[in-house]
Amino acid sequence: MSNNIKKALIIGLGLIGGSLAKGLRKNGSFGEVIGFDRDPDELEKGLLTGVIDVAAESLAQAVSEADLVVLAVPVKAMEKVLVDIAPFIAEDTFLTDVGSTKGNVVEAAQRVFTALPSGFVPGHPIAGSEKSGVEAADENLFLNHKVILTPLAESSSGAVKLFTEMWSALGAEVLVMNVEKHDEVLAATSHLPHMLAFSLVDTLAQEQDNNTDIFRYAAGGFRDFTRIAGSDPTMWHDICLANKEALLAQLDRFVAGLGNLRAAIECGDSETMLGTFTRARVAREHFSRILSGTAYSHDMSNQQVTFRAQPGGSVSGKIRVPGDKSISHRSIMLGSLADGVTEVTGFLEGEDSLATLQAFRDMGVVIEGPVDGNVTIYGVGINGLQAPPGPLYVGNSGTSMRLLSGLLAAQQFDSELTGDASLTKRPMGRVADPLRLMGAEIETAENGRPPLKIKGKRSLTGMHYEMPMASAQVKSCLLLAGLYAEGQTSVTEPAPTRDHTERMLNGFGYSVEQEGATAVVSSGGQLHACRIDVPADISSATFFMVAAAICPDSDLVLEHVGINPTRIGVINILRLMGANLELLNEREVGGEPVADIRIRYAPLKGIHIPEDQVPLAIDEFPALFVAAACAEGTTIVSGAEELRVKESDRIQSMVDGLKTLGVDIEGTPDGAVIKGGPIGGGVVESHDDHRIAMSFCIAALRAKDTIVINECANVATSFPDFVELACAAGLKVEREEG
Ligand code: NAP
Repeated sequence: MSNNIKKALIIGLGLIGGSLAKGLRKNGSFGEVIGFDRDPDELEKGLLTGVIDVAAESLAQAVSEADLVVLAVPVKAMEKVLVDIAPFIAEDTFLTDVGSTKGNVVEAAQRVFTALPSGFVPGHPIAGSEKSGVEAADENLFLNHKVILTPLAESSSGAVKLFTEMWSALGAEVLVMNVEKHDEVLAATSHLPHMLAFSLVDTLAQEQDNNTDIFRYAAGGFRDFTRIAGSDPTMWHDICLANKEALLAQLDRFVAGLGNLRAAIECGDSETMLGTFTRARVAREHFSRILSGTAYSHDMSNQQVTFRAQPGGSVSGKIRVPGDKSISHRSIMLGSLADGVTEVTGFLEGEDSLATLQAFRDMGVVIEGPVDGNVTIYGVGINGLQAPPGPLYVGNSGTSMRLLSGLLAAQQFDSELTGDASLTKRPMGRVADPLRLMGAEIETAENGRPPLKIKGKRSLTGMHYEMPMASAQVKSCLLLAGLYAEGQTSVTEPAPTRDHTERMLNGFGYSVEQEGATAVVSSGGQLHACRIDVPADISSATFFMVAAAICPDSDLVLEHVGINPTRIGVINILRLMGANLELLNEREVGGEPVADIRIRYAPLKGIHIPEDQVPLAIDEFPALFVAAACAEGTTIVSGAEELRVKESDRIQSMVDGLKTLGVDIEGTPDGAVIKGGPIGGGVVESHDDHRIAMSFCIAALRAKDTIVINECANVATSFPDFVELACAAGLKVEREEG
């Protein structure tokens, strides 16, 4: 590092100053490390323990000679030290501090300097311990911790860069924000929790009769409070005075929240209690997901997931694939809007439906579970949703975003819908535009992409809408807005799309009329809670249907699969291709038709897939491309341009991947031409698209060599246990992380 720093001076050789000095000395890139402290004993200790190179005798001289000066004294002492050093600070001296509050340090500097030096960049390492003094100095104190820099208008970019380098050299992650934001954030995340710990421990310690017992039997939670309350009283006294306004605002919010909880306990208000506890319980996980910007339920360590599928094998047995994604989403939405308690079984615990679940929790709905696919929703009624505390994060889920936008456009509060990087690229104009026609006010990013900022308190008016494309999401979005829009809302589709929203609304006692290709709702009704048994998802079942269809000796039964007429395109298409497929034990469950599907190997033949089947099988095409690659002759897919705006451009993703495996395939603007033939091995990209990833796994059954599939983490969006179930059925797939 060529930073030209020859002498770095640390004023205040306590825990933070000592740790910084020690770290800089060890790093060696910031010149000679000089220490100064008003206590000569501390300074002497610093020298003897190797924390500093040199102990300064004269502060004035040390400051004049230093290129870099760090103030590591208590916040209350900052102004006095600044007065002492100001005459010796040159315009090119780099100056920073480590104070836990920033507004007061900056005000002190403004009083001391006539013009703030350009080398001055206030800072705050978010690291520490309950210990103090130079003996506690630890060169690794800042490793993997955050440091906030709060540059001022006067701060030079060179100074910001240098202090960024300094903290990074000690292993810290540097964040930049303004002074006010810093004080607000710290009041909430550090100062308030310290106040709670001090107050709680002090209150319990004062209980007359059993205070010794309280400490004797202190369990984990209380012990954590006592640890925090062990922090330096003088430092915290200073912080309270220095950040008074922001801290008082946070204390008031907390006291109000605690008051609500107290009132709920007093009058046995279970809904408020459970609401508070269930939201708080998942808050940490929820916010880590948002911060990592990944798909909803990604564990950060799982970001790089690769599937390795060995060639050959066959599939057999009886399996039940996870619950239907579309129905799982809608069960949460309508259950939340219903009056009464809705019990859901067979709920898909995948990322997308969990994103919907979290969004409704954020809007004040108490939802218990999911536990083994069971979810209990305490409905708040059609007008009972509350303003969420911040943007609603729906991860990777296009369904959540599109359906929610219709619902939110009609609420009394403003809201914002955000998602992960992949969702942020997907078009939302198709829902925003018709909603605007109904009177909604929605702001999108460039080209109609997320985030969507939706204004509340708009009164919507029903309308008739002829959808330009066949999309169940757009239809559902408008029907949900129609629950609130004045008069009637009707949507006509150019080709049949999924009708789960209509069926489920009827199931909840809210009438949706179907007039040919048009669905009609009127506002003013109510939804009544009910039981929902989510059928297995035909889209997830598809991978196994194709697996059995392409692989000699296969004989597989898929249990309890939803066979809604708007979803059975894949069954029709596979039958047209010659598949041996039977529907057994057909029945109706909660308004949705269900069957067990038995599929046995039979040679497939290439066909021109009828365009009227395309919308009924839109999510199944990646797997159908694999079926086509294993069929005899040529298969033509057309009228499927919708595939280009799914989680990935599915036409391109499949064309690229199958070509890599040696398949003769050409993409067209609205489909592909696929010639059946041998499949080789190779490395293919799923482009973070779950269905592409699973389709290439199935292809391995007929491949000559191993297929390695990159970027498979998103398989969890729809099929969390795919690898386990695939192996149980006879595939040879391994999941690799790293
Ligand atoms: P500390 O261990 O008590 O060290 C402060 C040192 O500064 C002591 O040696 C003190 O000497 C010395 N000092 C006080 N007034 C001085 C003056 N006028 N001139 C020269 N030296 C003086 O405290 P710390 O925990 O390192 O905290 C230092 C700063 O870091 C504070 O501004 C604090 O807000 C900030 N900070 C602390 C933490 C944490 O967790 N501890 C975390 C982040 C930031 P005496 O012992 O004689 O008073």
